[in-house]
Amino acid sequence: MPPMRSAFIALSRNRLLRGLAERSRLGVRLSSRFVAGMEIEDALRAAESVNKQGMHVTLDSLGESVSSGEEAEKAADVYHALLDAIAERKLDANISVKLTQMGLIVDPQLAEAIATNLAEHAKYVGNFVRIDMEDSALTDATLGIVRRVHARPELRGSIGIVIQAYLHRSQMDVDRLIADGLRVRLCKGAYNEPPEVAFAHKEDVDGNYVQLSKKLLSSSIYHGLATHDEKMITAATAFVKKRRISPSQFEFQMLYGVRRDLQRNLVAEGYNVRVYIPFGREWYPYFMRRLAERPANVLFLAKNLLRK
Ligand SMILES: Cc1cc2nc3c(=O)[nH]c(=O)nc-3n(C[C@H](O)[C@H](O)[C@H](O)COP(=O)(O)OP(=O)(O)OC[C@H]3O[C@@H](n4cnc5c(N)ncnc54)[C@H](O)[C@@H]3O)c2cc1C
Repeated sequence: MPPMRSAFIALSRNRLLRGLAERSRLGVRLSSRFVAGMEIEDALRAAESVNKQGMHVTLDSLGESVSSGEEAEKAADVYHALLDAIAERKLDANISVKLTQMGLIVDPQLAEAIATNLAEHAKYVGNFVRIDMEDSALTDATLGIVRRVHARPELRGSIGIVIQAYLHRSQMDVDRLIADGLRVRLCKGAYNEPPEVAFAHKEDVDGNYVQLSKKLLSSSIYHGLATHDEKMITAATAFVKKRRISPSQFEFQMLYGVRRDLQRNLVAEGYNVRVYIPFGREWYPYFMRRLAERPANVLFLAKNLLRK
């Protein structure tokens, strides 16, 4: 992993910096490049605007690793409110949830109960819950919870998972998930992982991404390919054309504020695009991971700081 990327991922875990940044007005201003705003209303407004451009949405109430069950319940309440608001306003949006925010580290049973409640609520309002994937220490626990919720006949199809192409294990996981009929979002992976569990070189991650996306696209389950990498996107579109797989059978997913040109082009070509819209006061770790992904984003940050 390039040193710059590792450094930003390490900084994303720094509690002191996080506290300072999240409370500062300048920090909030800078974060607006990738974060829709601080309140639910900001996220709903952004979702409506993205929908008007012909794209689907997934909403992420920012926050990770709560330290008590109470905090987890409070974080879950925001998602329940989102599910209701999406239904009331007839938005084309689902929700993306991190299990550490739902208490996975402090109380895994609570996290599972919350995920089950959210899937039940989603089912009731005709919606869907995507469980984001976090670092590799949590992969088994996350997969276990999603599998068990999906295995309940009444909740089948109301919950989905994320697979990270940088992990060596992902080929095996994808085979199992396809056999289970679970909907997958495929991404490259955003955390700092050791070489024992993850490919260290971009070419290997990219190669695995292409292989996994072909597997998913051939499965006749509706999956999401989350990437801004034009090479990954071209490989997928070439594959579906060759195999005569309809564009309606899958979607591309991209982050709010990243490669809007590419998002619009794919919609114009007839592909489904879903935009991941994060919002909320706990924006720092998410923002730092976005800086880690692209050195040019750091220049953008520096320019803004100098302007102040
Ligand atoms: C919808 C969505 C959901 C995700 N969910 C998860 C998850 O649950 N777990 C997880 O570990 N990761 C998640 N990720 C992040 C993902 O793992 C990657 O870290 C991230 O998408 C960058 O990889 P890439 O595929 O875009 O390719 P890269 O090879 O990183 O980038 C390819 C090109 O895309 C553009 N680009 C990429 N990132 C940025 C950026 N931040 N700003 C500007 N341009 C950029 C640049 O042009 C770059 O050259 C998600 C990503 C998306 C799009």
